[in-house]
Amino acid sequence: MTEAARPLRLALLGESLVDESALAILVEAALGRPFVRVQPRLRARGWPSVLQTLPAIARHLHFHTDADGIVVLVDSDDTEPHPPAHDAPGYFHPRCRLCQLRAAFRRATKNLPPAHGRTHLLRAIGLAVPAAEAWYLCGLDDRVGEAAWSTGRAAGTPPYTRRELKQLVYGTDRPNLPQAVAGATAAARRHARDLRRLENDFPGFATLARDLRTWPTPDASSP
Ligand SMILES: [Zn+2]
Repeated sequence: MTEAARPLRLALLGESLVDESALAILVEAALGRPFVRVQPRLRARGWPSVLQTLPAIARHLHFHTDADGIVVLVDSDDTEPHPPAHDAPGYFHPRCRLCQLRAAFRRATKNLPPAHGRTHLLRAIGLAVPAAEAWYLCGLDDRVGEAAWSTGRAAGTPPYTRRELKQLVYGTDRPNLPQAVAGATAAARRHARDLRRLENDFPGFATLARDLRTWPTPDASSP
């Protein structure tokens, strides 16, 4: 990073306001510096909506804003996690939401002409397995991790349910908005001090952090 570096301008897209609140903290920690938040024109709520609106949001950001990139986070729920094997060139798993989002972004943004002084929008995508609440419990509850979830699920006995995760994080499986934001952001701030445990136990976060760290640093002279 040079002195000339200006803050990145990023749009965040999650399944809920709660997820986006925590995501903002985790993104800043992975980047190692603050960023400026750009509001996407559309909001997505829930998985199908994120997948459906991502192409329009990406094109809008590219042509009508000065955003450098977009960061997307979804829950896997009962679909496949995204192990490192999915990162092989050309690989695509139809039941992996991260693979689906990458493909949707690629289709939406390839062949776009340069705009606002940049050739293309940067993207980083994370997959919370099975839900963001598992990330929030990481390091506090040793049962919780992507490997344990995948092993249990394959054997037909998942080690915990998404409802149990919510109960453990928020003290209720139906938190109101302030309760949910408080629980999620407190957990994100705890991880922000040291991301290594979350990266180690959750490959779906590690891939998001890797995306962010391989981004080029924008030059202050760019518009
Ligand atoms: Zn995948």
